[in-house]
Amino acid sequence: MSEPQTQSFQAEVRQLLDIVIHSLYTDKEIFVRELISNASDSLEKLRLKQLTENSVFEADLPLEISITTDEEAKTITFSDHGIGMNRQELSDNLGTIARSGSKEFLEALKEKGDANASVIGQFGVGFYSAFMAADKVEVFTHSWDEETEHLKWESDGQSGYTVSDAEGEKRGCRIVVHLKEDCADFAKEATIKGIIERYSRFVSFPLNLNGELVNTVEAIWLKNKKEISDEEYKEFYQYCAHAVDEPRHTLHFSADAPIDINALLYSPAENTERFGFGQMKSGVSLYCRKVLIDAEPQGLLPEWLRFLRGVVDSEDLPLNISRESMQDSALIQKLNRLLTKRFIKHLTTEAKKDPKKHEEFFEVFGRFLKEGIATSFDHHESLAGLLRFETSMTEAGEKTSLEDYLTRAKEEQDSIYYLVGLDRAAMESGAYLEAFQKRGIEVIFFTDGIDDYIMETLREYKGKALVSADRAEIEMDDLPEEESKLNEEESKELVDWLGETLKDKVESVEIGKRLVSHPVVALTPKDAPSGQMRAMMESMGQNAPELKARLEFNPGHELVEKLNELRSSNATVAEMVAHQLADNALLAAGMVKNPASVVAGMNDLMGSLMK
Ligand code: ADP
Ligand code: MG
Repeated sequence: MSEPQTQSFQAEVRQLLDIVIHSLYTDKEIFVRELISNASDSLEKLRLKQLTENSVFEADLPLEISITTDEEAKTITFSDHGIGMNRQELSDNLGTIARSGSKEFLEALKEKGDANASVIGQFGVGFYSAFMAADKVEVFTHSWDEETEHLKWESDGQSGYTVSDAEGEKRGCRIVVHLKEDCADFAKEATIKGIIERYSRFVSFPLNLNGELVNTVEAIWLKNKKEISDEEYKEFYQYCAHAVDEPRHTLHFSADAPIDINALLYSPAENTERFGFGQMKSGVSLYCRKVLIDAEPQGLLPEWLRFLRGVVDSEDLPLNISRESMQDSALIQKLNRLLTKRFIKHLTTEAKKDPKKHEEFFEVFGRFLKEGIATSFDHHESLAGLLRFETSMTEAGEKTSLEDYLTRAKEEQDSIYYLVGLDRAAMESGAYLEAFQKRGIEVIFFTDGIDDYIMETLREYKGKALVSADRAEIEMDDLPEEESKLNEEESKELVDWLGETLKDKVESVEIGKRLVSHPVVALTPKDAPSGQMRAMMESMGQNAPELKARLEFNPGHELVEKLNELRSSNATVAEMVAHQLADNALLAAGMVKNPASVVAGMNDLMGSLMK
């Protein structure tokens, strides 16, 4: 017998409790679901222990969950004969924050001050949610390991908890929730029955309420698709993802070759990473014939599919596979490949069936698909086919795909052209587009900084090169007779003079064919990283190689014509104007390292004009 030990909660737990108790869910009933799911997790772990350990304390206790309500005492009790906890585990699991979802949630709170309640719902706060409804919680437990003590953990959810000796506990946990006055409703059998019906239909163990069996145990993922309703699919998603939203995609499939597999995968409604929360954590559990092998299997899915939720069951899996050896196992790699392929295929089919739905999905989860392109070569073409964007030929707000782009491309066109910019308006008014528009060639508008990198990674789609429209090497065929203000000789002289004047600033100067309304444009030389790409490299602390642009002047533009005249009347100002024109073009192209220097030049120019 040892003295009761009182310990303080870890600071983060206190913070979490404070939120849970005071502000969090309006749906207090969520705690019932959390405690049932903990009991179920614990029974899953026990089931696996029985397969891998020789001796388990009280081995023949039934694997089931019991809930009892007591209206008079205002308590609700959750009992399971799962793995239980020893002294160390009690304070590790119920004194600190072990659960990653809660950790992420707290980090997000620290950053943002407050958080969107619907997003909070997706994190779930686990065991501590009991304090939403309770002013005291007692946990009586004995671990699966015979050698350990019978223990009682107790707390009012304020500052800390006390662990003391208990007597004659059976294996597992018995959690007594002492309800607050205003939550006494949860001590009513009918209330709890309603909650169980809503949330806990998919618990994989028998669930008794005041001695009466209230669920039927079935592994929905092993059932025939035809026997499962949409509503059941949704409920299972909410059950296994601890979620309250509706899944966007539901993919249920089975195969025998090359591996035996039954999988039920979901994509959720929201991508919490979009709100600045930490990385999402994969929520696909691995089973072997209904026995949970690992709730967070390493390597089962590629990193970019971390938003998926659901279950994968394979009979080929050895039951005693260790977490460490798992990631490298050939079988896990096979499963990984198969699941990735099937999910991409599902997205592709769904996108064809319901383009609007895919657009909305892409809006929220597009970043993950791009990450998939950036991190693996395996599915470049199919992932590229799922990208959505506006182009110079779509209305603002209307999205299209690479596939559709190709159906509109000109017969002789062997490239797909794109621009990356801040927004549509900026690209429409920029100098690069007009040459393409004049020739009736469609240009994609990308607005995500990462798109540049994604295009350079992809390089091509269905045999057509993906080419940034600001590239110097793009050959422009002649447009029908454009009025040029300078004759050939004048143009040649002007170019020579400009080349000399600007030789420290740019690689070369040319008279070009692509411009209509702009006087000059800066082009990225062949093989050099683009402006946005360079900006990205620099923001990541890499030194981008020095970039010298090629300038293309428009001989038909009035400014250029005037500049040519100015050369003979006022050479000094003409040079300043030439520099300013070049700077403006470089600035528009994102090729100026120090924009302040451009301003200085502009001020000098104005100064000399006002002399
Ligand atoms: P999570 O279930 O996501 O890990 P919780 O806050 O719900 O987070 O639970 C914290 C931990 O407490 C669990 O990981 C588990 O180790 C332990 N635990 C909670 N309930 C039980 C139980 N009924 N039996 C055994 N361990 C439990
Ligand atoms: Mg839990």
